[in-house]
Amino acid sequence: MIRIEKERCTGCGICIRKCPFGALKMEEGVPVVSDSCLGCNACANECPAGAIRKDEESLKAEDIGTYHDVFVLAELEPLSGKVQKVTLELIAEGRRIADKLGEKQKTLLLCSQMPEDIEERAGRAGCDEIILVKDQMLKEYNTDLYADIVTRICQRYRPSVLLIPATETGRDLAPRVSARLQTGLTADCTGFDVDQEGNLIQIRPTYGGNIMASIISPGCRPQMASVRPNVFAAETEANQKMAVIKEEDIAIDPGRKRTRRTSLEENPKSYKNVAESDMVIVAGYGVGSAENFKKIERLAVKMGAAIGATRKVVDEGWAPFDIQVGQTGKTIAPELYIGFGVSGALQHTIGLRNAKYVVAVNSDPAAPIFAMCDQAILGDCVDIAEHMERLLDGKEG
Ligand SMILES: Cc1cc2nc3c(=O)[nH]c(=O)nc-3n(C[C@H](O)[C@H](O)[C@H](O)COP(=O)(O)OP(=O)(O)OC[C@H]3O[C@@H](n4cnc5c(N)ncnc54)[C@H](O)[C@@H]3O)c2cc1C
Repeated sequence: MIRIEKERCTGCGICIRKCPFGALKMEEGVPVVSDSCLGCNACANECPAGAIRKDEESLKAEDIGTYHDVFVLAELEPLSGKVQKVTLELIAEGRRIADKLGEKQKTLLLCSQMPEDIEERAGRAGCDEIILVKDQMLKEYNTDLYADIVTRICQRYRPSVLLIPATETGRDLAPRVSARLQTGLTADCTGFDVDQEGNLIQIRPTYGGNIMASIISPGCRPQMASVRPNVFAAETEANQKMAVIKEEDIAIDPGRKRTRRTSLEENPKSYKNVAESDMVIVAGYGVGSAENFKKIERLAVKMGAAIGATRKVVDEGWAPFDIQVGQTGKTIAPELYIGFGVSGALQHTIGLRNAKYVVAVNSDPAAPIFAMCDQAILGDCVDIAEHMERLLDGKEG
């Protein structure tokens, strides 16, 4: 990544002192770059002779051929340490990509303690090998340590593809890793394919969700993409074999940590997680007020459903962002979705493509949601919600 032009170098040693990662050492009067180089450019910026340059050329075909295997970065629940469902979803999709490329599917797991039955669950989803980095320092997510380790593992293994969950953690980590590896990153992908040259086609909505873009990164590796939870199915029986665990020996430098978490608390307002619920009731702008939103929420609680909201409802301040469903909110995959006063804008419905049965309640017979739902109920959404509540309470037959 860093190229030293020996003819220009005066051997002053400034670059060695300025490197924050200790990646340069002097050999026979000329600095030499080691594997620890993350391409931060600090040395090049300080070199008085202009002898250090960042190599930003695209990879050549023969270099690209040295990258192989589809990697998925695993994510664990912060409190329970269990494997998140999105990890299995990405492994299953990674398996499909790996089969098209004729490569292996490998899962990178950073943790302090291995989650129970990980070999079996990952193996069933399609994983060949788990690359395990286990250390007490990895008990909780830390931006600096995780970015450092994932980068170094990628430099060591040279995967052709790296998929990262587009969760809060993944969104923090993925751009840092892609910048260090000087590769592209396509965020929030909803589909993948492989072209004739073996490039990963990364499909994602763009221009407000009105068109789907197909993106390739032919000159860089790994091809990095993030994927939100519930976009792909977590196949649990794709394979009958266990994934092989390969424990990685990698030195972790605690001095690299620039931040630390002081506490971790569960949200006291206990909204059910819309992304993980089998039944989701969404309140749209048609409910009319914060007071009416509460009525829809009460119905959801009685039905054992998670309450969700459209962006307009969140923008009004009637509901918090973490229950927003759609392109900029959560992607959901419930058995049953009921939308009360939701128009059916593409940016909302893109988030419920994997819902099994969609019911829409709207007072406008021309509402776009009626064209994509399984059952349409025409009428005032608050009246209908109250009626449903009375039925549940046994007060109406
Ligand atoms: C880049 C971008 C990202 C976006 N991301 C998201 C996202 O993640 N999630 C999201 O939801 N939106 C998102 N949006 C916004 C989206 O385009 C729509 O504006 C939004 O989904 C509309 O919300 P709504 O259906 O609640 O409101 P409206 O479109 O205003 O629809 C209200 C509906 O309620 C009906 N109605 C009115 N009164 C009643 C009544 N008394 N009873 C029954 N029905 C009634 C109306 O007929 C209408 O169909 C995004 C937009 C952009 C540009």
